[in-house]
Amino acid sequence: MSERVNLVWFRSDLRTADNPALLAASREAGATVAVFLVAEKQWQSHFWSAAKRNLQARQLRDLAARLDKLGIPLLIREAPRFRASPRVLLGLTGKMPVVSLWFNREYGLDERQRDRAVEHQFADAGIAVHTRDDQCILRPGTVRTQSDEMYKVFTPFKRKWMEQLETSGWQPLPSPEPQARPELDADTELPEVETDTSAPGQDWAAGEDAAQQRLQDFANERLQRYHQWRDRPDVAGTSGLSPYLALGILSARQCLAAVLDDEQGAPVAAGEGAMTWRNELIWREFYRHLLWHHPELCKGEAFKPDLDSVTWRDDDQAFAAWCEGRTGFPLVDAAMRQLVSTGWMHNRLRMVTAVFLTKHLMIDWRRGEQFFMEHLIDGDFASNNGGWQWSASTGADAAPYFRIFNPILQSRKFDPDGVFIRRHVPELESLERPTIHMPDPDTAARLNYPEPMVDAKVAARKAKTAFAEARGRYAEASA
Ligand SMILES: Cc1cc2nc3c(=O)[nH]c(=O)nc-3n(C[C@H](O)[C@H](O)[C@H](O)COP(=O)(O)OP(=O)(O)OC[C@H]3O[C@@H](n4cnc5c(N)ncnc54)[C@H](O)[C@@H]3O)c2cc1C
Repeated sequence: MSERVNLVWFRSDLRTADNPALLAASREAGATVAVFLVAEKQWQSHFWSAAKRNLQARQLRDLAARLDKLGIPLLIREAPRFRASPRVLLGLTGKMPVVSLWFNREYGLDERQRDRAVEHQFADAGIAVHTRDDQCILRPGTVRTQSDEMYKVFTPFKRKWMEQLETSGWQPLPSPEPQARPELDADTELPEVETDTSAPGQDWAAGEDAAQQRLQDFANERLQRYHQWRDRPDVAGTSGLSPYLALGILSARQCLAAVLDDEQGAPVAAGEGAMTWRNELIWREFYRHLLWHHPELCKGEAFKPDLDSVTWRDDDQAFAAWCEGRTGFPLVDAAMRQLVSTGWMHNRLRMVTAVFLTKHLMIDWRRGEQFFMEHLIDGDFASNNGGWQWSASTGADAAPYFRIFNPILQSRKFDPDGVFIRRHVPELESLERPTIHMPDPDTAARLNYPEPMVDAKVAARKAKTAFAEARGRYAEASA
């Protein structure tokens, strides 16, 4: 066993290529050993879905095999809650000569508290801790307004982000060089994490190769027309890479490198498609930067304080109908059933269903946010919270204060032939357009499909009033 061990702690960066902490540790003198902590109770309290847990467990096998080829053992340890992490990690230092700990930063509130505790306890033990930024292409905190603040809306953030990209040296990093595998005591390696094979999301194969393959296929086959097809749930127009990005099986830098042809960030020949896709990656960055600046978002606070006191309806039956895809609005129902059965939902439909819950049903966005986390394979706090607050009009959004979609018009526009609805709502399989977007009461009854649970226009008017009242109350209270 080497005299010096550099310990790399894997979290949401489950890959060997373009992993800043892993690469830096591997370049230090001594042996590299990797560790992953299973934080089952903590993940439950963060509402991680079975689908996400399952992909993570499958990915850990791929990671262990890849690290093994590099001569780096992966230890898997249990630390049911984050507060156990310092103790479990320090426990390893008693079994091998650890001289340093390396990890890539995470930006959630609990994650930051956990990491501070680890840093303090390692400092007390005289062991160096080194951190790196990995999750974003540009480090949170570095894209700021002229008055040195975080942007509150996307477009100026994007402009500044693009400007800074040019000089940032953002390119993906190589994998570490293979090393001589250190000999560990027999009791240091635990069996693999259990996997639940009944979880949805088995379509996403684990492994860095599978993620890279999907990225290449997307770049070669669909990127060019991304801007035309990205809003159509009936067509495979988007990349489907979000589960890989959420767990760090793929990095945002690797994604950007696949669509840009030089370090200055000029799009490849694919042109508008590539530029539009790059913008989506910037949305992802925007929400992570917001979280870094506003960790209180993790406590369920609305980003816009004037809309934190909207009077939400406490209606469990209506919430259950939304969750189960029984609202009587075919596109909303198809989307919710897609979520529950596959663990994934198309972006346009995430917006439609979130607006429907918060505006048409007037149910608190936090309930929807949690339900999404409980089912999404790509569940990611920053993007999910950002998307929910954007849809509920309480978030970082340039729109004045009220955003609403008519679910029937959205259906006609984005699933014109009803292909997507037919795929997920078998009761409506026999219907053609235009009926499939909103069957008349007789047809719905005959097909055993529910009646619309609200009148969309009346509900929209009521919601507008409720939001205006909340603003009024806030203005009065702060006068
Ligand atoms: C209410 C709501 C909840 C959401 N919850 C999540 C979530 O938990 N996890 C998650 O990864 N995304 C979330 N999103 C964002 C978006 O819907 C998904 O990232 C996207 O649908 C993933 O599909 P894709 O990989 O095919 O995306 P593509 O269109 O191929 O985009 C490429 C990548 O860019 C990022 N991206 C795309 N759109 C957005 C966006 N609007 N905001 C932030 N990042 C984006 C994703 O990482 C995505 O994989 C949410 C959006 C809304 C409106």
